[in-house]
Amino acid sequence: MNARTDARQLALAGDFPILARPIHGRRLAYLDNGATTQKPDAVIEAERRFYRESNANIHRGVHRLSQEATELYDVARESVRRLLNARAAEEIVFTRGTTEAINLVAASWGRANLKAGDEILLTALEHHSNIVPWQLLCEQTGATIRVVPVSDAGELELAAFEQLLGERTRLLAITQVSNALGTINPVAELTAKAHAAGAIVLIDGAQAVAHQTVDVQAIGCDFYAFSGHKLYGPTGIGALYGRAELLAAMPPWQGGGDMIRTVAFEGSSFAEPPQRFEAGTPNIAGAVGLAAAIDYVQAIGLERIAAHEHALLERATAAVGDIPGVRLIGTARHKASILSFLVDRIHPHDLGTILDAEGVAIRAGHHCAMPLMTRFGIPGTARASFALYNDEADVDALVAAIHKGQDLFGTRGTTR
Ligand code: PMP
Repeated sequence: MNARTDARQLALAGDFPILARPIHGRRLAYLDNGATTQKPDAVIEAERRFYRESNANIHRGVHRLSQEATELYDVARESVRRLLNARAAEEIVFTRGTTEAINLVAASWGRANLKAGDEILLTALEHHSNIVPWQLLCEQTGATIRVVPVSDAGELELAAFEQLLGERTRLLAITQVSNALGTINPVAELTAKAHAAGAIVLIDGAQAVAHQTVDVQAIGCDFYAFSGHKLYGPTGIGALYGRAELLAAMPPWQGGGDMIRTVAFEGSSFAEPPQRFEAGTPNIAGAVGLAAAIDYVQAIGLERIAAHEHALLERATAAVGDIPGVRLIGTARHKASILSFLVDRIHPHDLGTILDAEGVAIRAGHHCAMPLMTRFGIPGTARASFALYNDEADVDALVAAIHKGQDLFGTRGTTR
């Protein structure tokens, strides 16, 4: 397939009503997809239909609406199972998103299994939500964190990984795709190595699920976390995949309704997974919306989406990288959908504001990856991140807006 042709062919912006909204009188080029994606009509409608036609609480009702809501929630769990190719729907726990999924593993598996002297292996690429829960766990258990460094290109130092992985390593927690640099990590290979060393593996899939096919069985990981809102679904819903044997052995995290088998003041017994980890009324409408989002991307095909975004990333990397005074941060060989950069003498936040006035929405800052910014000796970057509805006009708007910023700062055509 010709990548450039494909970039023009996937013309799906019409499915996303918000993209038709002019911003500051300009056509919106929404390039902040790493933070959250926009929602297609199919998702908005699925949530609306749920509230208009099927809303009730799940599990506890004998009446028609409750049965319907329960069925929709179960169907949504099956959609997530299919998306990740998990063996069974019972391996899918609904959460608020990636952050809550990782906190669940840290609080439940972590507190039950880690002790002083144990090590958790992270990487320099991690988002704060795959760092801080482990720090909290270390404070409680006496375990310690070790960190795989990255090269100047933003790739993991694999020799260092092998050295850091040892008999004390109990857990490897690693992102599949870096939200700050776009680096795609070889997670299947790293999982196999971690398993050989006796560690279990959690993958942060927040930036991966919308951009490539994910197969937890092929990766071989023990846990996989993602957020629906980065996959064209609603906010406040996401999931944790956990291997059945691990989930079955894990103690509850939050207590409340729906996660119990019996309750007495003398003590309670708990439901099997996944209910054991879903205390209280869940985000039922969110799950329904997420299922609609999964149907939407699967109907287009994640392979097609990946090819389309790759073509856009290549075009943007060449065009932005060629601007005198621009420095790309993160030039890994395998990258997904994210272009981080600095423009000489223009602070990323100023650049973000200038781009906004041109209708170009990007993110500026540390991207919740402060240790990674420290590694590169920078306070932050400007970041453009692509999704299935972006097109070449969005890339051209980004480039034109950067030129405009340089004109305003009188730095066009100059290098540092
Ligand atoms: N991990 C990565 C790699 C992310 O990009 C994000 C969101 N920026 C998260 C975790 C956290 O996701 P959420 O805020 O949806 O829980």
